[in-house]
Amino acid sequence: MEELFFKSAEELAQMLTQKSISAVELIQIFLKRTRAVEPKIQAFLSLDEEKSLRQAKASDERRAKGQVFGPLDGIPIGMKDIIAEKGQPLTCGSKILEHYISPYDATVTERLYEAGAVLFGRLNLDEFAMGSSTENSAYQKTHNPWNLEYVPGGSSGGSAAAVCVGEVPIALGSDTGGSVRQPATCCGITGLKPTYGLVSRYGLSAMASSLDQIGPFAHNVIDLALLLQVIAGYDDRDSTSCKTEIPNYRQLLKNDRQPRRIGVPKEYFSEGLDGEVRQTIENAIEFYRKNGYSIINISLPNILYAIPTYYTIMTAEVSSNLARFDGIRYSRRSPKTTNALDIYFKSRTEGFGSEAKRRIILGTYVLSSDHLDAYYIRAQKVRTRIREDFARAFEAVDVILSPASPATAFKFGEKMDDPLQMYLEDIYTVAVNLAGLPGISIPCGFSKVGLPIGFQLIGRAFHESELLSVAHQFEIAHDFYRCFPNMA
Ligand code: GLN
Repeated sequence: MEELFFKSAEELAQMLTQKSISAVELIQIFLKRTRAVEPKIQAFLSLDEEKSLRQAKASDERRAKGQVFGPLDGIPIGMKDIIAEKGQPLTCGSKILEHYISPYDATVTERLYEAGAVLFGRLNLDEFAMGSSTENSAYQKTHNPWNLEYVPGGSSGGSAAAVCVGEVPIALGSDTGGSVRQPATCCGITGLKPTYGLVSRYGLSAMASSLDQIGPFAHNVIDLALLLQVIAGYDDRDSTSCKTEIPNYRQLLKNDRQPRRIGVPKEYFSEGLDGEVRQTIENAIEFYRKNGYSIINISLPNILYAIPTYYTIMTAEVSSNLARFDGIRYSRRSPKTTNALDIYFKSRTEGFGSEAKRRIILGTYVLSSDHLDAYYIRAQKVRTRIREDFARAFEAVDVILSPASPATAFKFGEKMDDPLQMYLEDIYTVAVNLAGLPGISIPCGFSKVGLPIGFQLIGRAFHESELLSVAHQFEIAHDFYRCFPNMA
């Protein structure tokens, strides 16, 4: 029998409805699982068992009175430790926020409470979400459940690994340049980066504000739909939040009027893509062709500049967003300071890791008055070109299919000494953030050594329901979402 901790949120919700299990029992099962695998996986930075049990108990009481809040009532969910949860640590994976306790809830956190979900622990990440392997966390390394010698991807590596190994059925992460889609792919689960403005960023510690979006992780697309339903929608506390109608994502998964034209950009299948990954993704394309989709070759010429454009704009925003951590207002203050300047200097020197420092320096440089036009302004112009490429493509196709990452997960240490190599991990994901579009990654196979492979679907802005339904079609015809790592 399939272990309970590998069941999807929807299956667990059915069990709760049928009263074959209670929410408290469910939490106990996930706690037991977490205790068993956590020494090897290390996905969690903190876990408040008492709080989770209290919430689960409240869910059971509601159910007994027939007052269930919705399909996620009683379902445990893990949170990337960069999304605020009142009374819980909010480290952002950084030493500079060590011992910091969030005084407020993010909008998504509030919405999860309103949906009755049980918040289950804070998950590891690269410092301030900067990285592709979770190795930039100041606290610990999270291991890929498929092979412990490999990284889980990043920056939301804790979220992806925790879902993959059955510590939680669903989790939230954040995606600035691929940090939901790439770790989901590395761990063989699904992950969605919503359209910019669909999910409120209030309470998400900012990395690069024009690119950041909170996104869900799950074993399957149905659960992504359920979770997106809860977190999506306008919020007046985020000025970039959009007033748009939120459809019933779960219901629309079986949409007969599904879009039928899939674009395959030639730039995404050129050198740099691992042969095994390419072959596996071509099989996925073949699946869609056989199922009545038209496969259309397209070109996104400016996508070649996506990485430099992203690393210019993102670092500029990072340098500005991280300026607030100065050891004075609320971040950790160096104990060794003697004067005001020292407080800034030493607190930041001791508090930030090397990747954060690299990006702050780079970002300060591209924003400096001497270089602004040559780098930052130019990058903004290229960003517009990239957006236009997508807009043109979407005149001829409904969704775009591409790899999600250039290869499968890599070993610890393999790319840490070579930042450029690490940055290339994002080559297929960053353009989606630059253009503000939704992207989803879906598992589609395994490499010869048993590491998961996934592909990415990119949609029109605010067309998440189309994207989810095209992805769902693939997943129900295959059983990759029912493959689980063996942790014996
Ligand atoms: N890996 C990318 C980076 O290092 C993306 C990070 C993210 O999406 N948060 O910037």
